[in-house]
Amino acid sequence: MASSIKINKNPQSQIHLCDFENIEFGKIFSDHMFRVDYKDGKWQEPSIEPYGNISIAPSLSALHYGQSIFEGMKAFKNPEGKPQLFRPLDNFNRFNHSAYRMGMPAITEELFIDGLSQLVVLDQNWIPTKEGSALYLRPFMFATDDFVGVRASNNYSFIIFCCPVNSYYPKPIKVKVEQKFVRAANGMAGNAKAAGNYGISMLPSMEAKKEGYDQIIWTDGATHEYAEESGTTNLFFVLEDKIVLTPKLDGNILPGITRDSCIQLLKAQGYEVQERDISIIEMIEAAKQNKLSDVFGTGTAAIIAKIAAIGYKGTDYVLPDPEKRVVSNWLFKTIYGIQTGKEADVNNWVMKLQ
Ligand SMILES: *Cc1c(COP(=O)(O)O)cnc(C)c1O
Repeated sequence: MASSIKINKNPQSQIHLCDFENIEFGKIFSDHMFRVDYKDGKWQEPSIEPYGNISIAPSLSALHYGQSIFEGMKAFKNPEGKPQLFRPLDNFNRFNHSAYRMGMPAITEELFIDGLSQLVVLDQNWIPTKEGSALYLRPFMFATDDFVGVRASNNYSFIIFCCPVNSYYPKPIKVKVEQKFVRAANGMAGNAKAAGNYGISMLPSMEAKKEGYDQIIWTDGATHEYAEESGTTNLFFVLEDKIVLTPKLDGNILPGITRDSCIQLLKAQGYEVQERDISIIEMIEAAKQNKLSDVFGTGTAAIIAKIAAIGYKGTDYVLPDPEKRVVSNWLFKTIYGIQTGKEADVNNWVMKLQ
């Protein structure tokens, strides 16, 4: 562990203002943030400071040209009350892939992992323990050149802050198959966690909401026939509680860590998992024949976001009762159990911090 992170403690903890029973998602921040800046071709001295506003120039290049990437991960308390992370090295590797795709510098493993660890240990009282809750961690990097010319920035900031969160999608969602807009097409940055991928998703989501849907299922840019992701989660379809399908990682899909965890757990449990192209028409046919037993999205925020109904070309196909779903209920319980130390961690996914 590097001990060189300068720590400037927050003299006025805000923790007494947080109602841990009723946390509004993404609006409450813990007492500290980790920060390190990149200039002259290298990462400078890292520090942990009180969470607070940062000052930026109007010409900040990230605001104009979008060199901005992030990660989303969580810290939990195990039954001994000690903080732990779930697969943080996978987030680290994905972060550097996103940086590469956006022409940004790689961060070192030491800065990323030690920054996270020391921040979480310092703010561990902010880790909620109510069922389904966690401390959400947001590492991100953005271009900080004070320059409006178009080129990759020379300066960057890397920051991590934390928000305590309760469960994210409390109820099953109704989704619409999106056949006008696309999230990513071949050669774009669909497999990077880039801010711009989110920016372009806002209008399609707003339109779907106006039509009474909670979220959209993205389809491929070439034909709009194949399912890609659901909102900001990876997508799974289950046929007759036996065969599990998920779109293959074709470069347009974000390689979710929850997705990978689900695949590994399902295979170990004896399920047949197929990573392949998934035609919407094939899934609608399966639903009509009552063979589509479960559909859900996966991601760090919700772990599992159950899909209650799919809207396709104006018709809503209602799926089986979410309460009785075998695969998604089992996956949620197992993954959350591993994350919180209540289930055996046979794959070595947990990193204990103390
Ligand atoms: C982050 C993200 C996911 C989920 O990834 P996890 O590692 O499971 O949290 C899925 N799709 C998109 C577009 C994402 O940005």
